Amino acid sequence: MPRTEPQRSCLGCREVKDKKDLLRFVLAPDRTLVPDLLNKLPGRGAYTCMSKLCLKAAADRKQFARSYRGEVKHAGADELVNQVALRLEERIVSYLALANKAGKVVSGSDMVAEALRKRSPGVLFIAADISPEIGQKFAHLACKSGVPCFNLLDKGRLGALLGKELRSVAAIEQSGFVETITRELKRYRNFFEGGTQSQ
Ligand SMILES: [Zn+2]
Repeated sequence: MPRTEPQRSCLGCREVKDKKDLLRFVLAPDRTLVPDLLNKLPGRGAYTCMSKLCLKAAADRKQFARSYRGEVKHAGADELVNQVALRLEERIVSYLALANKAGKVVSGSDMVAEALRKRSPGVLFIAADISPEIGQKFAHLACKSGVPCFNLLDKGRLGALLGKELRSVAAIEQSGFVETITRELKRYRNFFEGGTQSQ
């Protein structure tokens, strides 16, 4: 018999999904709710979809307190969403920094445009505050080469991470980093754009 994935239901929309696709929370000893992005913290988990809508719904309707049978300390729904978003972002940023250390990142408009034309890098980062025309130009180039692209971080942050001045775009060359970073980027995107909570 094939082993089935353990499943849990989302506290926001009640849908039952594979545990690994959900966002896990645990309760600290002082009953503060802690997001557990790596699914590693000890204790009983409470889950929502990887979606800010479901997380907000769960917090607004006090579902965490119900799940843990008693008082649960957590910030308001929006602040909880921010906490999770920041942690998701931190993970992406740390992988990007590692890839850069390993010499697998090219940045700057000219270098990235050339990389996109000549060889397909694994992932393209487009700064969130880039001018719309340039952003579209790069998104189009990436699309033509079949390179997934993500709008994330601002030019200052992207540059600082890479040890440079402002950077509007950065590409990760084909390497072992691509799969991990793409997975994290998709989780991040799902968190903001996905969601099954219908209300
Ligand atoms: Zn849900």
